[in-house]
Amino acid sequence: MSIKRFLIEELEVELHRKPVKNVNVRIVPPKGIVKVSAPKHIPEKSIHDFLNSKMDWMRKAIQKVKAQESLKQEINYEDQSVHYLLGKPLKLELREASRGSQVSLKGDVLEVICKPNPSPLLISKLLENFYKKEMTKVVPALIAKYEPQMGVKVTEWRTRKAKTRWGSCHPLTGRIMLNIDLIRRPIEQLECVLVHEMCHLLEASHNHRFKALMTKYYPKWRKVDLELKKSRPLD
Ligand SMILES: [Zn+2]
Repeated sequence: MSIKRFLIEELEVELHRKPVKNVNVRIVPPKGIVKVSAPKHIPEKSIHDFLNSKMDWMRKAIQKVKAQESLKQEINYEDQSVHYLLGKPLKLELREASRGSQVSLKGDVLEVICKPNPSPLLISKLLENFYKKEMTKVVPALIAKYEPQMGVKVTEWRTRKAKTRWGSCHPLTGRIMLNIDLIRRPIEQLECVLVHEMCHLLEASHNHRFKALMTKYYPKWRKVDLELKKSRPLD
């Protein structure tokens, strides 16, 4: 196998010559390098032409990869790192305790008491529990607000960690799942996703009727949906 590196306009390309059947292109995180694997017999000129025809697609895919990477880097669990609750920034302060652990909100300080030198994983778990509790302070009241207006019944709601979905709904059972990351965001985003899922109790698909229901119960849904689409859930 041989590797050749070159630029096509501003894009960094790595060409791997391999015993493959076709030319494959993929974008590799974190930098968004274009990795091409191609069989030996295809001339480089053809590969360049092929890549030139894919410029728009590659640029979009690179942006997506970079956006995902920047989101990943956003979660920092060190002392003094910034975390969000309903869109409000909170400063994480780590305090040591010989045993037990606790997360409490003191003004705009999120105090995490736990054993010395905690791993990021431990803090992420503690914060997840904290965020789950915060969800239970907000979601039931919102459900109670919309149920009578919409004439539906949410039998059960849960939070879930998910990379791609903000929520889901099982119309037959009346169960709703909300992405835990919503609690980090402004309340309108959580509310919009909740109303979206509750509308599915009335209409399963995203058709005209569904959109009309959204407009009726959450008039600014289009604007909030755009904000949600701009980013992916953190996990
Ligand atoms: Zn939906």
